[in-house]
Amino acid sequence: MLIRAENLQAVMARLMRAAGTEAGAAEIVATDLLEANLQGHDSHGVQLAGRYALNILAGKLKPGANAQVVRQDGAIIVVDGGMGFGQVVGRQAMELAIAAARQSGVGLLALRNVHHLGRIGAYGDCAVAAGMLSIHFVNAVTGPAVVAPFRGSQPRFGTNPICIAIPATAPGGAPLILDFATSALAIGKVRVAHAAGKQVPEGALVDHTGTPTTDPASMYGGGPRGALLPFGGHKGSGLALICEILGGALAGGGTNQPGTPNDRGIVNGMFAIVVDPARFGDLEAYRAEATAMVEHVKTSAPGGEQPVLVAGEQERITKAARLRDGIYVPDATWEELCAAAAEAGLGRAEMTTLAGV
Ligand code: NAD
Repeated sequence: MLIRAENLQAVMARLMRAAGTEAGAAEIVATDLLEANLQGHDSHGVQLAGRYALNILAGKLKPGANAQVVRQDGAIIVVDGGMGFGQVVGRQAMELAIAAARQSGVGLLALRNVHHLGRIGAYGDCAVAAGMLSIHFVNAVTGPAVVAPFRGSQPRFGTNPICIAIPATAPGGAPLILDFATSALAIGKVRVAHAAGKQVPEGALVDHTGTPTTDPASMYGGGPRGALLPFGGHKGSGLALICEILGGALAGGGTNQPGTPNDRGIVNGMFAIVVDPARFGDLEAYRAEATAMVEHVKTSAPGGEQPVLVAGEQERITKAARLRDGIYVPDATWEELCAAAAEAGLGRAEMTTLAGV
């Protein structure tokens, strides 16, 4: 079904409130999930709202938790998220890192024990809104690991995303928001393909023997589990490990090694570097050079029918279309949301009315 953006936001906020979230936090979470859908990242949008509600009801996600500073040492800030909403605690933690960057030119944030941070670009957006650059390494400990290392067949990593955000360098320009998982494919897309009886693209999966496959049943068929592959062979695999070390070990919430409990819900850890570009000297020269380079990239003649894009552009294109046309929510996703809502005491009739469907 197609649901208009504002209606979808109302559904998600109501569901979060029904599960025990106060109104302000419920709006922040709903806005963040909606933004992921609007930008085309459905794996990180509305389909998560049901799991969030169930995790609150199970006591795994603490909807009232706020960022707690464990340690501050110059520009270094260590924050415990108390298993609160990533969308709430992550933004609070970013504000602390941005304040440190304003003061000393750089803020180094280690965020641990936080429930799902969602789209990591959201935290890049926070930095960019403050005129800062940011770099984020994130690990995810969400049940058994799903991504195998290069040449491996058994999973060892989460889908561990990386984000690099650069504020617009030209007046009226757009920021660069580079934001992706280090797996070749989002795990949510494998699940969707399995439910639909479809294959996934080549190069994304191996079965439990390490043999390449396009069959999502190798992950969800009930037999011995295969693994997602990292993107870019040894390069993505290397970055996935760095996310574990920085986002899990240095930040202190734990990595995907067997000694870390993996039944705590959707748990992220994030190491973020926030940098004030004005502290490097000639801000105007930097901006002019960066703008010239982005323009140069964009003038490369397309090799096919699609235009050359830079980081963040595809998301802006998708957002404009979805604000206009609405957001497609598959029936299976809607049913999952209604089932979670029922657990939280929220009836299907109210969900349907809010969705306007
Ligand atoms: P993706 O593969 O769609 O890549 C997105 C990135 O590539 C964006 O920066 C985008 O602007 C850029 N891009 C897309 N098309 C482009 C083109 N034609 N030319 C140039 N650049 C282009 O992203 P993904 O790996 O599916 O990740 C989706 C989202 O999932 C991200 O927001 C990520 O943070 C999030 N995620 C979160 C977690 C978590 O644990 N919280 C885990 C994995 C992923």
